[in-house]
Amino acid sequence: MTLVRERRHQQALHLPLPVLRNVFPFPLPLPPLRPDSPVNLSDLEKLTILGQGNEGTVYKVRHRRNSTIFALKVLRLNEDPTTIRQQATREAEILKRVNSPFIVHCHGVFDNGNLCFVMEYMDAGSLHDLLQIRRRLPEKLISDIGRRVLEGLKYLHGMRIVHRDIKPSNLLINGRGEVKIADFGVSQVVAGAHDFACCDTYVGTCAYMSPERFDTDRCGGEYDGFPGDVWALGVALLECHVGYYPLLLPGQRPDWGALMCAICFGELPEMLPTASPEFRSFVRRCLDREWRKRATVKELLSHPFVAKCPSSTQGLVDALHG
Ligand code: ATP
Ligand code: MG
Repeated sequence: MTLVRERRHQQALHLPLPVLRNVFPFPLPLPPLRPDSPVNLSDLEKLTILGQGNEGTVYKVRHRRNSTIFALKVLRLNEDPTTIRQQATREAEILKRVNSPFIVHCHGVFDNGNLCFVMEYMDAGSLHDLLQIRRRLPEKLISDIGRRVLEGLKYLHGMRIVHRDIKPSNLLINGRGEVKIADFGVSQVVAGAHDFACCDTYVGTCAYMSPERFDTDRCGGEYDGFPGDVWALGVALLECHVGYYPLLLPGQRPDWGALMCAICFGELPEMLPTASPEFRSFVRRCLDREWRKRATVKELLSHPFVAKCPSSTQGLVDALHG
C-alpha cells in the first residue's frame, strides 16, 4: 500500500484485480423469519436468462398454475463448497428476513443441491441497463432514485445489515417506476456499533468500494461498514449524471491500481454546469473520503436534494418508455 501511495501520481499503474473472497467469520443473530411463502420450485418453469453473476444465473420463470412471473436466482454450490456455500447461506438468511418496498422481495429460498431464490420480478431490468440506453439521466430522476435507495438503506442499516455491493446493476427497476435494492451476496449483519467484522476488504465490486475499504491502512482497519454503502450510492448517482463510471476517465481501464488511486487519492470529477447546488452538495456529502465525516443515510434523507421535491415514480416510467 505504501508503495502504491508513493507511486500514485505515475500514469500507467496496471495491477491485476485480486481474487474476490467472501469471508463470513461468524454467524450473527438475526431477527425472526417471515412465514414461508407458498411458491414451490416444482411449480416454476424457466423462460429466459435475466442475468449471469459470478456464481449463479438469474432466470425469468413462470408459475405453471397461476402464470405469475418471478425471477429465480440459482447459485451453484458444487464448485466451491466452502466459500460459495457460506456466501449463499448468508444471502439466504438476509433475504428471508427483509421485507421492504425498497428491497427486491424474496418469496422463498430452496436448497436442491443449488441454492435457489424465488424473487419478485423487476420487469424493467437494472439501473445499469437503463444507463446503457439513456447514458445520462435528468437530475430530478437521479433525486428520485437516490431517495428510494436511501429508504432501502435506511431499512437495512436499521436492521444492522450492510449491503456492501450497491452499484447500478444491483439496483433493479420495474414498470411502475420503482427502484429496489437487490443482491445480498456479500452483505453482512453487523452485531454492534463498533463491530468491525465487515472489514474483510475485497468483497463487493472494487469500483464502488469506499476509500476506507480499499486502503484499510488509513484507518488501522477500524471502520464502520455503513458509510461504505453511502459512498457507493454517491458514485452510482454521479454515474447517472455524467454518463460513465465517474472516478476514471471515460474509456480508462478499471484495473485495481487505477481504481485504488482514483478512489483513495484522485480528484473528484467535475459535475456538469447544469448540476444544481443541492445536487453538488449531496454528492460531496456522499463522497467524503473521511468515513467519519461522510453523511449518514438519515442525514441524506433530509438533504434538500432528495427532501425538497415530492417523491415521484413518473420520471422513471417516462425514461423507460421515452
Ligand atoms: P453479480 O455478481 O454480477 O453482482 P449476482 O450473481 O450477484 O451478480 P444478481 O446481482 O442478483 O446476481 O443478479 C444479476 C443480474 O440479474 C442483475 O443485474 C439483473 O440484471 C438480473 N436480475 C437479478 N434479480 C432480478 C430480478 N428480481 N428481476 C429482474 N432481473 C433480475
Ligand atoms: Mg449483482
